[in-house]
Amino acid sequence: MRDTDLYTRILGIEAPWHVSIVEVDMADREIVVQVGRKAGTKLCCPICGKESPGYDSRRRRWRHLDTCQYKTILEANVPRVECPEHGVVTTSVPWAEPNAGFTAMFEALVIDWLKEASTSAVSRLMGLSWNAIDGIMQRAVKRGLARRGQICTRRLGIDETAFKKRHDYVTIVSDQSGGMVLHVGSDRKKAGLKEWYESLPESCLQAIESVSMDMWPAFINATLESVPGAQEKIAFDKFHVAKYLGEAVDKVRRQEHKVLMAEGREDLKSSKYDWLYNQANMPPEKRRNFRALRESALKTAPGPSRNWLCRCGVTSAKPGRARPGSGGYRGPCVVVSNR
Ligand SMILES: [Zn+2]
Repeated sequence: MRDTDLYTRILGIEAPWHVSIVEVDMADREIVVQVGRKAGTKLCCPICGKESPGYDSRRRRWRHLDTCQYKTILEANVPRVECPEHGVVTTSVPWAEPNAGFTAMFEALVIDWLKEASTSAVSRLMGLSWNAIDGIMQRAVKRGLARRGQICTRRLGIDETAFKKRHDYVTIVSDQSGGMVLHVGSDRKKAGLKEWYESLPESCLQAIESVSMDMWPAFINATLESVPGAQEKIAFDKFHVAKYLGEAVDKVRRQEHKVLMAEGREDLKSSKYDWLYNQANMPPEKRRNFRALRESALKTAPGPSRNWLCRCGVTSAKPGRARPGSGGYRGPCVVVSNR
C-alpha cells in the first residue's frame, strides 16, 4: 500500500479530499500529510449550506495524532467561497472545527487526558500551550452545550467558588434535581447572573420552584428581578444561615460579656462555644448546666431560637418559612433550604 493511500485510510479522509503527499522530516521528527481537494467539486457556504462560487483558498495546518514518535501535521489549501448572503467565508473541512489548529481526533485525545491529568501535565506532555488547551476546552464545551440543548429545571442552585487563591470568584448555577452544572459565570456579580436568567425562555423561568443560594446580595437581587415570584422561591442554604446567625450570637455575647465584666460578673465567661454548639449534639450534663444560662434574661439568651432555625432545615418534612435575624440581608421572608 502506498503511503498516501495508507494515510487516506487511517485518517478517514473521504472524497473530494484525499492525501496527496506524505513528507517525513527526520531532523524535526515530523510527518507532514498534504491533503488535496479534487478540482471542480462544488463548494458550499459553511453558514447557510448554499452552493457558492469559489473565491480563493488559504493554506492551513492542523496538528493530528502522532504517527509513532513523530509529530504529525495535516496541511491543505482550504477554499473560500463568496456567498451572496454571507460574503467571503472559509469552507469547512471534515477533520477539524473552524479556526482550530488541531484535528478533531487530536482534540478528543486532549480532552480525554484532561479528564485524567492537570492542565499543566497535559501541556507539558503533549507540547501544548495553555492557550491552545483553553481553546480545545472551549470548543468541547460549546459542542457539549449544543448537544445538551435547553434544560428547564424546577430546583436551581446558585453558588460561588473561589480560585486563584481566593482572588477571583465564579458563579456556578446547577440543576439540583439532576446534579448538573447549567452555567458557570466568570464573576459573582448581579449583571452576569441576570444575563444568564435572560437567556432562558419565559417558560423555563416560570417553571422554577426554588432557588437555593447563600446570602450574597448580587445573587438575591438578580433572582428577585428575574424569576417570577422569587420572593417565595429563594431558599438560603442552611449552612450559611447557621454561619451568619452564629456570628451574630457571638457578637452579642462578646459585647454583653464586656459590660458584665465591668460590673464584676462572669456569667458569660468561657461560654463562647456553648452558644454555638448544636443543642442536639451537646452532652446531657453540659446541656443541663447550660440551660440556666440559656433561659436567663441575658441579651445573648435568644440563642436557642437560632438553633431551632438551623435545625428546621433538616427536621421539617417540608421547609419552613423563616426570617434570618442577621447576616447583612433583611429582605423578604425566605424558606430555609432543606438540603
Ligand atoms: Zn451563506
